[in-house]
Amino acid sequence: MPFTLTDEQHAIRRAARDFAENEIAPVAREYDENFTYPRDVIETAAQHDFAARTVPAEYGGAGMDVTSSVVVTEELWRADPGIANAIDGVAFATNVSLLERYGDEWMREEWFPKFVSADALAAIAISEPGHGSDIGGIETRAEQDGDEWVLNGAKTWISNGTKADVVIVVAKTDSGEGHRGLSCFLVPTETDGYEAERIENKLGLHASDLADVHLDDMTVPAANLVGEENRGFYHLMDVLAPGRVEVAAQAVGTAQAALDAAISYATQREQFNRPISEFQAIRHSIAEMETAVEAARSLTYRAAARCDEGANDATRIASAAKLFASERAVEVADDAVQIHGGAGYVTDFPAERYYRDARALPIFEGTSEIQKNVIAKGLL
Ligand SMILES: Cc1cc2nc3c(=O)[nH]c(=O)nc-3n(C[C@H](O)[C@H](O)[C@H](O)COP(=O)(O)OP(=O)(O)OC[C@H]3O[C@@H](n4cnc5c(N)ncnc54)[C@H](O)[C@@H]3O)c2cc1C
Repeated sequence: MPFTLTDEQHAIRRAARDFAENEIAPVAREYDENFTYPRDVIETAAQHDFAARTVPAEYGGAGMDVTSSVVVTEELWRADPGIANAIDGVAFATNVSLLERYGDEWMREEWFPKFVSADALAAIAISEPGHGSDIGGIETRAEQDGDEWVLNGAKTWISNGTKADVVIVVAKTDSGEGHRGLSCFLVPTETDGYEAERIENKLGLHASDLADVHLDDMTVPAANLVGEENRGFYHLMDVLAPGRVEVAAQAVGTAQAALDAAISYATQREQFNRPISEFQAIRHSIAEMETAVEAARSLTYRAAARCDEGANDATRIASAAKLFASERAVEVADDAVQIHGGAGYVTDFPAERYYRDARALPIFEGTSEIQKNVIAKGLL
């Protein structure tokens, strides 16, 4: 099926690229080296409608569809994955889709406008020390006590865990039922019993926040249940596709950045009295990188369009896009380091940063292996 962007989406791309080149790229290296959380850039992003960009217009948002949001994602990540990850984390597509589809009206009215202005930040806490891919094994418990729920447990790898104002927590509400006994809760982080500790020793995405979270007798009103009790797993599965397409777009942006860096270096660096871009080995490597980026981009935009159409195969194609684009990003970033030679191994050039940042992409929002399981299940 042919796919083209609308005039409006081309305009969104130009605006996102301007913003990314002016506000993100100049501070990318500094924020990475100092592990600086980019609160200032996030605020500017919000002024340009790039934070929480899928929030519907009735709550003050830009109301971008998946395709338009993916255009923005690609451009932000091309400028710097770490800062872009923090901007995406204001209210990642999965959180917005979950609240849009299954949340109560008061949740959207209270939180969506604050996400749009970046006055409030969100997170989603699914993963635990003992259960990552195996969501059904989640041990965090939520027990009903009159008009309240009491939550206890430990979560890990939570993006925005120490920065978020509100977190969607996935907890077990029926001990015997595996993934059929999970529920989602909207939890303001100022609630007593919420504690988050920043994970400092990560490989890449230094400018964004990652945390361990502990819930200790944390009590929220019964009204904070998102959707139906014991249906949380199914609610999440219903909204994962746009989030996975977003990660595919993050991968396309990262791979494009690595390709840009490789071309720039290859045309400047001279060996044997000529630019290394004149050697066939380097030219072929760049040609293969470009082919991988374009193929990943095509699949990503096709998956975004399938999400926007509400197509039956959107989940499967979103997983295929996430799988393919994230693995290509790792390969292209690796090729970019190789083209830089020794200069690819130090922070003087951005190639090493892209190499570190890209490595998260085949892991979060469901690993490559889990995407393959989803694709096979959809077909078989
Ligand atoms: C930077 C970053 C940000 C993250 N942000 C969040 C967040 O905001 N919220 C959140 O909840 N989580 C987040 N995560 C966690 C992420 O979703 C998990 O790391 C991921 O789901 C894998 O879980 P795990 O780390 O426990 O690995 P495991 O599930 O233990 O997997 C280990 C290995 O076994 C493989 N494996 C497991 N099960 C199967 C299977 N059935 N078939 C084949 N292979 C299998 C995996 O693919 C992987 O290769 C983040 C992770 C990272 C790195």
